[in-house]
Amino acid sequence: MEERKNCLFCGEVLQGRSDKRFCDDICRNNHHYKNRKDAEMLIKDVNAILLRNREILRSLSNNRSIVAKQILIDEAFNFDLITAIYKTKRSEEYRVVYDYAYRFINDDEILLIKYLSL
Ligand SMILES: [Zn+2]
Repeated sequence: MEERKNCLFCGEVLQGRSDKRFCDDICRNNHHYKNRKDAEMLIKDVNAILLRNREILRSLSNNRSIVAKQILIDEAFNFDLITAIYKTKRSEEYRVVYDYAYRFINDDEILLIKYLSL
């Protein structure tokens, strides 16, 4: 009989390769960040990245500016972390980082605005 293995984090029966230990990356990360200290470190890292992102946007912003995406890449801006998403009536989607927001105008350019709202 085939041996059934369970995810080390959530306990679901695992499908696929026999050397799998977790359902997916989310369960793997949850397992590794399972204790309080790990979670606090993750939160600190996320906060530091967000504050750094905000500082990059602040330094480039002049109320309403168009900037080259490459400039943000050069500054090691992290495009994965934001604090909110704001959608205009025209379905333009701004990615919010605290009190600044940006959206892609095209593949190379970003519109950057001051965004004071919750
Ligand atoms: Zn799982």
